Amino acid sequence: MSIQEVELVIIGSGPAGYTAAVYAARAGLEPVVLAGSVAAGGALMTTTEVENFPGFVDGVQGPELMESMRAQAERFGARILLDDAIRVDLDRPIKVIETGAGETIHARAVILTMGSAYRKLGLPEEERLTGHGLSWCATCDGFFFREQEIVVVGGGDSAMEEALFLTRFASKVTVVHRREEFRASKIMAQRVLDHPKIDVTWNSEVAEIIGAEKVHAVTLRDTVAGAERELSATGVFVAIGHDPRSELVTGIIDTDADGYVLVEHPSTRTNLPGVFAAGDLVDHTYRQAITAAGTGCAAAQDAQHYLSALD
Ligand code: FAD
Repeated sequence: MSIQEVELVIIGSGPAGYTAAVYAARAGLEPVVLAGSVAAGGALMTTTEVENFPGFVDGVQGPELMESMRAQAERFGARILLDDAIRVDLDRPIKVIETGAGETIHARAVILTMGSAYRKLGLPEEERLTGHGLSWCATCDGFFFREQEIVVVGGGDSAMEEALFLTRFASKVTVVHRREEFRASKIMAQRVLDHPKIDVTWNSEVAEIIGAEKVHAVTLRDTVAGAERELSATGVFVAIGHDPRSELVTGIIDTDADGYVLVEHPSTRTNLPGVFAAGDLVDHTYRQAITAAGTGCAAAQDAQHYLSALD
């Protein structure tokens, strides 16, 4: 087992991690990025067109954007390892990070950017159709569905928000909910129920998303009677929640009740000195590539100030 000694380790390789790496590398910190052994590049690696990241007039493919961020970080001296952090000891001046490949890294500062994961429906076609009519983010993708029929899955406040937002584009929105009552706040639920473009299908779940290249319908299953029927839709938005990937630091660092890492806003400082967090790992609300990149930039600067003060 080898032991590396470095100034800064960044765990995670989405827009937050790579932006932190660009800034930290340009500050001469020679950061090591643990990019993950399976999903390096983060959530945008699973999507197609990204139209709302500033600077790309005609949009950019998610993987292309992430490859550019990686290359930009490497250009300034960041070391990107396709490896996972599997165990960390952060409550001491020299942090210890053990990796899946058997490395032990000692660092004076750590930035956590492990992101979060949207909850999935658990259907086999989900991966294939993501970015081809199946989405988890109305802010990101609603614009692609002008004058189309859309299904929104979920019954909480975020499903209500997604459905209402999508009425700006869609010809019709059908909210599909497993129970006969929404979990959402009364006011949000009422807005959905009153909206002329929104239908609600109670006691139903999506049994299948139909489409070879692109979504064109869903099969709905009645959760009480078990009967199935087909509903035409070219867009399916899943809004059944998301979970931060904070299991690495559970019990080690302060998180909120949902597992999001707590930071001293507006900084990216966690409760442990020398440990910073950014991106969707800390963000219940905005959850966009640009906001993740923004907090990644802040984390690199916070880490740099922390390290300078130690010298
Ligand atoms: P992530 O991008 O989630 O990256 C976290 C990374 O850390 C992952 O690669 C993960 O594998 C890695 N990691 C986790 N644990 C470890 C560990 N222990 N060791 C090493 N690595 C680890 N946003 C937009 O602004 N515009 C869009 O059009 C858009 N479209 C989207 C489409 C889809 C299908 C999805 C899923 C999201 C979309 N988003 C979009 C949201 C955007 O992708 C996220 O807000 C953003 O990627 C969050 O960045 P992040 O760096 O915080 O985390």
